[in-house]
Amino acid sequence: MRTVRGARVAAIGAGLLALSLTATACGQEAVGGSRYKSKEKGGTIGIAMPTKSSERWITDGRNVAKQFKEAGYKTDLQFGEDDVRTQVAQIENMITKGHRLLVIAPINGGALNDVLKQAKQANIPVISYDRLLLGTKDVDYYATFDNEKVGRLQGQYIVDKLGLSKGRKGPFNIELFAGSSDDNNTRYFYNGAMSVLKPYMDKGELVVRSKQTKLNQLYTEKWSGSAAQDRMEDLLNAAYSGNDVDAVLSPYDGMSIGILSALKSASYGTKDKPFPVVTGQDAELASVKSIARGQQTQTIYKDLRKLAKATVQIAKAELTGGEPPVNDTKSYDNGEKVVPTYLLKPVSIDKSNTQVLVDEGYYTASQLK
Ligand code: BGC
Repeated sequence: MRTVRGARVAAIGAGLLALSLTATACGQEAVGGSRYKSKEKGGTIGIAMPTKSSERWITDGRNVAKQFKEAGYKTDLQFGEDDVRTQVAQIENMITKGHRLLVIAPINGGALNDVLKQAKQANIPVISYDRLLLGTKDVDYYATFDNEKVGRLQGQYIVDKLGLSKGRKGPFNIELFAGSSDDNNTRYFYNGAMSVLKPYMDKGELVVRSKQTKLNQLYTEKWSGSAAQDRMEDLLNAAYSGNDVDAVLSPYDGMSIGILSALKSASYGTKDKPFPVVTGQDAELASVKSIARGQQTQTIYKDLRKLAKATVQIAKAELTGGEPPVNDTKSYDNGEKVVPTYLLKPVSIDKSNTQVLVDEGYYTASQLK
């Protein structure tokens, strides 16, 4: 683990530097040059999550709040209900209340710049959680999973499952889905998956019958499961009379469930017409159960407890003069700065290894029945 103390100092604007110098002159410690560090304990952490419409963010909210409480902080947990204005208002409120630090999973990574400026003026550090805050200097750290790897794991799963990586030539029919256009993670997932799939598409071993392959043709706004279902129905109607689809790249479990509904309506899921390979992400309970039933094929397990832990460790260090853990200081350029990041590893899950989720205590065996 490395620290980015130098980077932090460089990121502090002249006015703020003056502020921290004043604090030092008044006898308070300005450890390591950061304007945030003090020996003060406790206080409230503002936690802004994007929505309750997906299980994963509810779990994130619960984990992050629990771990901050265990570390001696109070918490103010808010969900933005996928509405940017609601999230802005929630964060403004946290700043007004004088919370010590903000953890933000943005709905739209580029829509919070004004409110982040207010946080900066109030000397409140900001950790970007899972999704990167874009186009602003007023973000201090980023904690996430390796998003590009998530996409690569999904793409690799498809080529392995179809046997393409072992010499089968196909051609196999595939359709592609991407996440919400306002989420920075979307392009990392897409690029990662395409880095594996495109060579097979170029050779004609994977065929996208709809011809929709560009990211801007594939967006699914707000990661909506019903929008994914509608698009899958349209694709099946337009490009699959007399043909079967063999694989669907889906970046998120909620969308995979919608895609499977469309496939069921088109009579997939029988011996003669089996479900295609359908990927996913988040290991949400409904999807893990679907995998066990042989419907969804794969998901990506991101242990949200570890993401919460990394976030709390960064926050504690930032607030008390320790060294915030980061392990990537290159990959996440938000357009204004490269944000020091703690990256975690995603894991591919299918029917053969769902037991990992039980062994690691993510779900109980009875939950998966
Ligand atoms: C997260 C994914 C999640 C998606 C939809 C992304 O930003 O990284 O884990 O599936 O949002 O909620």
